[in-house]
Amino acid sequence: MAARILNGNAIRDQIYGELAGEIGLLAEAGIQPGLAAVLVGDNPASKLYVNSKIGACSKLGLASFLLRPPASIITDELLSVVEELNRRDEVDGILVQMPLPPQVDAKRILDAVDPAKDVDGFHPVNVGKLVAGRPNLVACTPAGVMEILRRSNIALEGANAVVMGRSDIVGKPMALLLLHANATVTVCHSKTRELKEVTRRADILVAAMGRAAMVTSEYVRPGATVIDVGQNVIKEKSEAERIFAKFPEKIEAFRSKGSVLVGDVHPEVVELAGAFTPVPGGVGPLTIALLMSNTVKAARMRRGAKLPAAAGGVR
Ligand code: NAP
Repeated sequence: MAARILNGNAIRDQIYGELAGEIGLLAEAGIQPGLAAVLVGDNPASKLYVNSKIGACSKLGLASFLLRPPASIITDELLSVVEELNRRDEVDGILVQMPLPPQVDAKRILDAVDPAKDVDGFHPVNVGKLVAGRPNLVACTPAGVMEILRRSNIALEGANAVVMGRSDIVGKPMALLLLHANATVTVCHSKTRELKEVTRRADILVAAMGRAAMVTSEYVRPGATVIDVGQNVIKEKSEAERIFAKFPEKIEAFRSKGSVLVGDVHPEVVELAGAFTPVPGGVGPLTIALLMSNTVKAARMRRGAKLPAAAGGVR
């Protein structure tokens, strides 16, 4: 039997609906949350990501500020840009789009963001709060996965959760969030032995390696919930035909566009899993939704608004 599809677009729209109420209450208190995006240089993928974030701000009625320093910027100059944003009162959230040019010390830049405005949740202060079980501003993609699981009524307490990937932005915070939700968590990485045996024990499997369609049916216990964080662009015809052999509409899409998006999970897994996030339309939409949610939360906390978060909203 094919898996239940966990529709990220529908969950994003639900979150936007809740945020609209909260943004309305803030407006009554004279507060318009604002997000500043720093986009260095002309990387086309980064431009696309930043444009969707700015687009989400205008859709929800948040203020947005786009800063476009040149690709030649050096660390000290970019530090000044961040420090200026830290000082500006109308800026509640700061996001510095990665990757940065090689001459810039990315760690120093991320550490310079005021933790109260760190809506990406990458600052060591916010990571530390997450580790300590007092989450504040949490990395958007793993927080989005938790919203998918919670709003789809996937039981976490006592479940075996396996996270494939240990990056600072996805795998590690994902593992901590699942642990705090009382799952029994295993984290895998490129040096893990007997990987398939480990992943086959998962009730909940989160794939975040950046390896196109690597997780085939052999990695998955029948009935497991499979969350696919991966976003891989396939440009080779032979690879698209191999991965999507049983999905002619995807091969057609590849033919017309010259590329196709695939997750870290092979599409055949939909036949075996109990629940499954598609790519696109699964985890992706939640990342931006949680960025918006973090910006509203940062505004509420920093500006001291005595307003409750929307009932039933993002946790
Ligand atoms: P990353 O920094 O490259 O980390 C990849 C992780 O996967 C590493 O921990 C690596 O292990 C592990 N890994 C790589 N190959 C493996 C293998 N064969 N077996 C087991 N583990 C393996 O990537 P990331 O930034 O976390 O992103 C992961 C994926 O999520 C990418 O496809 C990215 O595009 C996607 N992503 C999506 C969103 C979204 O909004 N949907 C947001 C962020 C990222 P080592 O630590 O041992 O090297």
